[in-house]
Amino acid sequence: MEVLGIDIGGSGIKGAPVNIETGEMLAERFRIPTPKPAKPKAVANTVAKIAEHFEWQGPIGCGFPAVVQHGITRTAANVHQKWVNFDAATLFGEKTDCPVRVVNDADAAGLAEMTFGAGQGRNKGVVLLVTIGTGLGTSLFTDGALLPNTELGHIEIDCDDAELMASNAARKRDDLSWKKWGKRLNTYLTRLEALVWPDLIILGGGVSKKHENFTPYLKLNAELVIAETFNHAGIIGAALAGRPK
Ligand code: BGC
Repeated sequence: MEVLGIDIGGSGIKGAPVNIETGEMLAERFRIPTPKPAKPKAVANTVAKIAEHFEWQGPIGCGFPAVVQHGITRTAANVHQKWVNFDAATLFGEKTDCPVRVVNDADAAGLAEMTFGAGQGRNKGVVLLVTIGTGLGTSLFTDGALLPNTELGHIEIDCDDAELMASNAARKRDDLSWKKWGKRLNTYLTRLEALVWPDLIILGGGVSKKHENFTPYLKLNAELVIAETFNHAGIIGAALAGRPK
């Protein structure tokens, strides 16, 4: 089955049709810069442009960087406040004239990794995926089943939101060496381990491509692997989540 996967991010909105049985992207991804301000209508129009680009008529799955309950976006850590309690799935459906499902972006990446990437075959025990970007996203699986919207990027560390301390944006903002940032990341991941005791931690997000720079500073109990689907995880996972039930 083919589903159009769309990854909605802070700087770009990217999409491609995906064969959800194989995880293969069936065309080159199409990217449009995220409108500024990224209010719901403007983002929905961009989602519609991506569907038009592929002349899409079929199911669509979207990953969105916030809590998403049954198609409704609930939070807005790094997005416009208008998304709080907004029925995104309905608006995207109206604009594209297609059935649309919307899920949290980290959960989408987690689905992609569990199905086609580093978590493949890891259907026993607890797997935690952490995507590191502007935000810190988490996706938690137990015996292969997803517990959605864990939002463990916002746990408190030293009275601060972990995301403000350990994200890739924080590394750039504070101009940290890989060592300094690697140690911060280690503090964060150690705290996560104490909370959910994962058997496996998968690190994703753009910065995971440069993992040699910081993994030497990570001393964890769980097995640690790097995501395999990298930048495409968001699109592939969104497509998986878009499968009509
Ligand atoms: C948001 C999460 C999202 C993560 C990664 C966080 O700020 O709260 O919902 O998954 O960023 O984009």
